[in-house]
Amino acid sequence: MTTTSWSTAWLDALASFSHPGRMRRGQQFADRRSIRNVEIKPGEVAANVKDGGQTFRVRLQIPLLDDATWSRVVAQLATRALYSARLLGGELPPEVMDVFAEAEAPLFPEAAELQATCSCPDWEAPCKHTAGVYYALADRFDEDPFLLFLLRGRSKEQLLDMLRQQRQMTMAGENVEAAPEQQWQITVPRLADSLDTFWDIGPSLEDVVFHLIPPPTPLPQLKRLGPSPFDQVNLIELLTPIYEAVTDQALTWAFAAPDQQP
Ligand SMILES: [Zn+2]
Repeated sequence: MTTTSWSTAWLDALASFSHPGRMRRGQQFADRRSIRNVEIKPGEVAANVKDGGQTFRVRLQIPLLDDATWSRVVAQLATRALYSARLLGGELPPEVMDVFAEAEAPLFPEAAELQATCSCPDWEAPCKHTAGVYYALADRFDEDPFLLFLLRGRSKEQLLDMLRQQRQMTMAGENVEAAPEQQWQITVPRLADSLDTFWDIGPSLEDVVFHLIPPPTPLPQLKRLGPSPFDQVNLIELLTPIYEAVTDQALTWAFAAPDQQP
């Protein structure tokens, strides 16, 4: 399982085909905040790099993943309850990299895929400005890994929409697609009218479909309670990891195969 961060995986991929000395100089540029106006779009990155009195324009081009590849990734993600739940909650755990690998979807560029140009006169590739942009991007990807998906052709919103649709299909099966509202049309008769049938079995539980997703704001119960009256203890800080662990475990059980549920 992947334990590395998004930035490390990105830089490792680039370092595998880039000159080590150039990468080091690029890192120094990134540290000096000489890299400005980093724009990330599907298939393209543009940035300005200040070097002495001059500013150079760096442009990277990376092919988009095609629709079929994205569909494969989303289908894989939808089967992983915990990942999809966290993704739909706005998180992007690094383990998602494994899902891309399993779906044979290259998220990180290979040598032949990456086209880099810089307006400086240096003919070596990557020039230090380009390598600087590699590092600046690494920081951006750690702050918001969804930008890496945008670079490969899907915005966060597009990906989550695809995932929601796929989850509904995966979870609900065909009968729900055919008649989604039917699930909830259970009328409750007056008690006096149902004395004869009160203990009869009603509609099957099998027909009831639950949609479990994390709350839009994490840990709503703790946030609603506000600061605790105990001065000495930060109760929210203390309880947060416990609430998170319980939520994760509940989702894992909820989506586990029937023979793996407690
Ligand atoms: Zn350059």
